Amino acid sequence: MDEDKEKKDLKDELFKTKEELDKLYRDLGRIYDIVNTIHSTLRLSELASISKTIIEQTLGLDTYSLIVYDSVTKQFVVVETSNLSKDIEEKALQSVRDFADEWHRKHKASVEPEKTKITSDAGDSITRIPIAVYKRTVGALFISDEILDKVNHEGNEILTLITNQLTVAMENSILYEITRKLSITDDKTGIYNLRYLKQRLALELRRAHRYERPLSFLMIDIDDFKRYNDTYGHIAGDVVIKEIADVIKGLCRQIDMVARYGGEEFCVMLPETDGAGAEMVAKRLIDLVAEYEFKGKAEDDVERLSVSVGVASYPEHADSASQLIELSDQALLIAKKNGKNQFQVVTKGKGSVN
Ligand code: GH3
Ligand code: MG
Ligand code: MG
Repeated sequence: MDEDKEKKDLKDELFKTKEELDKLYRDLGRIYDIVNTIHSTLRLSELASISKTIIEQTLGLDTYSLIVYDSVTKQFVVVETSNLSKDIEEKALQSVRDFADEWHRKHKASVEPEKTKITSDAGDSITRIPIAVYKRTVGALFISDEILDKVNHEGNEILTLITNQLTVAMENSILYEITRKLSITDDKTGIYNLRYLKQRLALELRRAHRYERPLSFLMIDIDDFKRYNDTYGHIAGDVVIKEIADVIKGLCRQIDMVARYGGEEFCVMLPETDGAGAEMVAKRLIDLVAEYEFKGKAEDDVERLSVSVGVASYPEHADSASQLIELSDQALLIAKKNGKNQFQVVTKGKGSVN
């Protein structure tokens, strides 16, 4: 009889162990899937929506806030909030902003941010779990304490594991976005750089060719800019470069692309635009710059500047990116020779301008 009982107990135990192992196996599988999903993208916006799904569906949390803030642009990059009162959400946003600004100011790169409790005036509290700190950018996940208190030991371990994975993924995404932006934009003006414009121009030309659509290109140069620099100094000159970049951008459509060619030269790619359309844009730009009140010597002194523009179009004048750039540059030189503050369209086609 005793032997039978022993056997039965052993069997029960084995069964229990098997069940536990099965559950562990299922949990590990689930965690493996979650980790894979978290690392499936480098785009911050995609990661934010993946995180939202994981927080809500896997962790079963319905009261939380996921916030990422960039202390250089002073903008919130990600804000996903669910069921938090306005008051506590405002406190959460403020705490990330303050932490990020301080972090950035003090270059505290070696200090590990820690979990912090935040309490609202009404008395409800949330815990801030740091999920990303990359030089200028800080991310945090806020979870209501009421919910956090209910999470058992196992749930806590899963939460830690997932937030750790989120941290790695967030930091990778932030780094990726920063590098991507830096590699395609010009520091001084925030518009695209020439390298990226060339890539995009080649792509757009292929599309224009395939669908038999027109595309135009403008090369723009500030007139007598050396004189402005000599009179007002290089720093004031930099401000003018940025202002003219903004004027050009303000004039363009969403599908157009404005880039800094170099120094005080800009270029614009105008998809779906023929020669006549490009001339209109060039004329409008010249007028806008001529009307613009640049800063003069005294506080309310106004200085006038002008630009010259070279215009080249696909397919009339050129069919490659390099030809469009070269021909519009040659047309620009003619506009300069003819007296500046004007545009010039390419006078001969397909690389034969001289
Ligand atoms: P033109 O009408 O023929 O274009 O005459 P310009 O004086 O504008 O042309 P030039 O090529 O002789 O001089 C361009 C000037 O632009 C000289 C250079 O110092 C200035 N420049 C180029 N890049 C920058 C920049 O990033 N910031 C400032 N402030 N000046 C710049
Ligand atoms: Mg120049
Ligand atoms: Mg110039």
